[in-house]
Amino acid sequence: METLEFQAETRQLMQLMIHSIYSNKDIFLRELISNGSDALDKLRIESLVNSDLDVDRSDLHVTLTPDADARTLTVTDNGIGMTRDEVVSLIGTIAKSGTAELLRKLRESSSESADLIGQFGVGFYSSFMVADRVTLVTRKAGESTGTRWESTGEGTYTIDDVDDAPQGTAVTLHLKPADTEDQLHDYADPAVLRSIVKKYSDFIAWPIRLDGEAVNSQKALWARPRSEVTAEEYSEFYKHVSHDWTDPLETIHMKAEGTFEYDALLFLPSRAPFDLYSRDAQRGVQLYVKRVFIMADCEALVPSYLRFVKGVVDAADLSLNVSREILQQDRQIQAVRRRLVRKVLSTIKELSPEKYATFWAEFGRALKEGLIEDAANREIILDLLSFSSTADPEKLTTLREYVERRPEGQTEIYYLTGDSRATIENSPHLEAFRAKGYEVLVLTDPVDEVWVDQITEYDGIPLKSVAKGQVDLGNAPAETPAEFEDFLTWMSSALSESVKEVRLSTRLVDSPACVVGDSDDLTPQLEKMFRAMGQ
Ligand code: ADP
Ligand code: MG
Repeated sequence: METLEFQAETRQLMQLMIHSIYSNKDIFLRELISNGSDALDKLRIESLVNSDLDVDRSDLHVTLTPDADARTLTVTDNGIGMTRDEVVSLIGTIAKSGTAELLRKLRESSSESADLIGQFGVGFYSSFMVADRVTLVTRKAGESTGTRWESTGEGTYTIDDVDDAPQGTAVTLHLKPADTEDQLHDYADPAVLRSIVKKYSDFIAWPIRLDGEAVNSQKALWARPRSEVTAEEYSEFYKHVSHDWTDPLETIHMKAEGTFEYDALLFLPSRAPFDLYSRDAQRGVQLYVKRVFIMADCEALVPSYLRFVKGVVDAADLSLNVSREILQQDRQIQAVRRRLVRKVLSTIKELSPEKYATFWAEFGRALKEGLIEDAANREIILDLLSFSSTADPEKLTTLREYVERRPEGQTEIYYLTGDSRATIENSPHLEAFRAKGYEVLVLTDPVDEVWVDQITEYDGIPLKSVAKGQVDLGNAPAETPAEFEDFLTWMSSALSESVKEVRLSTRLVDSPACVVGDSDDLTPQLEKMFRAMGQ
């Protein structure tokens, strides 16, 4: 037997769990059942792909075994199981990106910690809210030796080989005493367990057995009529598919009939995961075929810029053995994807102002990527964007509002890109626009540099950088006044190493000079970005 230490971050998260910052303790069961259900899905898929695998898949299920005398509850599944190495890496460490960031935030604000930890979703560790000791025995499908893991949640765990472990995973919780004040129910009581399963896990596709009988109805939520599904049921289902602990911002439930039938149940989360902008961010929704789970993160169904959308698509007419490669090429899947994208975009458009503000703060940057990735929906996406502008530093504006507000005589939409609002506001480029009372959009996201190069107008009105090319503010002299000729010639030759041309400008009011790019030049920020990428 070996005794190992938890990774420092894991230990801190477990301490937070144990000292129960999350008031609803019942949800530990949802997390364990959710893990069991995932493990059964994985076993099914694995045995399809690998027909030599020596596994019994005749009766896949989750079992709850309470023992009132021993004060334990065991949650068992006969799913894929874990190897010893997997137990150490999956259960002993939290490798998710953003853990350090989360912990820093948790330390800063104790009042919000329940909220924050919910956002992170510490599935398995939630067992320590209700148990003072947790034992996990597991055997990976196809392997002969099993592994036993045990911890009191105090910094170390033990790990050991076991010879006679059944295939799958059993998690035994040594329960803390029930305490109504602390919302710790008696989790060795079958009636309590039954009501928790009904509330949080009813839709799970595998049987969840208690005393030999299935407690859950196993009805696929997406296949039920919308009018019969409650907001709580949607919310619990969302938490299962997304591994998020917070309620979704919006639910999209659709049914398509005709040549290619499918049900889709999609969600806009209310919070961005920490890794939304990292390379290995999860992407896509789950694909089912006739109620059977086929794959997670089906990227053929949603484009990358909508990677925050979670949920399920259940198609009636696909092969159970369909591969990711085939899906990418499938014309019908492409049609489904187009339709889902339209539906998601129109849902965003119809969000209430409060919900839209939340959405924008969390996912706005990702949505802007759609301007580049999804040319077909550019016009629609442009109408969903919000920008800071020089008009009111406190408020965001849409392009439509900008256009409607602009003074008579202003024929273009002006913007300036930069690293921060402060840099942009101090830019001499803005002077003449400010003097004229023209509003300028303040674009500070890295992705702004890229899309402004590709999108030249909105609703027929040119989009123009105030830092590039000639600007016509209606006050330019027709030709260079003679008294400046000599000066400009002298300056052009003096600076010929550094600049292409020196000309008189109408864009300045207080500053004597500024450097501008040619209309088709890269902006300084883009130049920097390309240089950083080694191009
Ligand atoms: P999440 O489910 O969000 O990944 P958890 O903390 O619930 O986070 O679980 C961590 C990982 O441990 C899972 O992703 C899975 O790989 C593994 N795991 C947990 N429970 C089981 C189980 N019953 N069977 C197989 N693997 C499991
Ligand atoms: Mg989990």
